Amino acid sequence: MERKQFELGDVVQMKKPHPCGTNEMEIIRMGMDIRIKCVGCKHSVLIPRAKFEKNMKKVLRSAAAPDGPVGEQSH
Ligand SMILES: [Zn+2]
Repeated sequence: MERKQFELGDVVQMKKPHPCGTNEMEIIRMGMDIRIKCVGCKHSVLIPRAKFEKNMKKVLRSAAAPDGPVGEQSH
């Protein structure tokens, strides 16, 4: 089973683009629900984590490692 890793500040690509045409979203809040902000129009949405994981395609840019692969975390 595929596991998706993401963290606060990451820019992710969604499976469905935002109505504005951009499908890059920045994670601005993590919790039981995830708040993501559209990189294109700056509109933010709060969605349940399960739905976010389902709709998220991949992490484009990691906040922790902007220039390379995501580093190992403590957990
Ligand atoms: Zn947008």
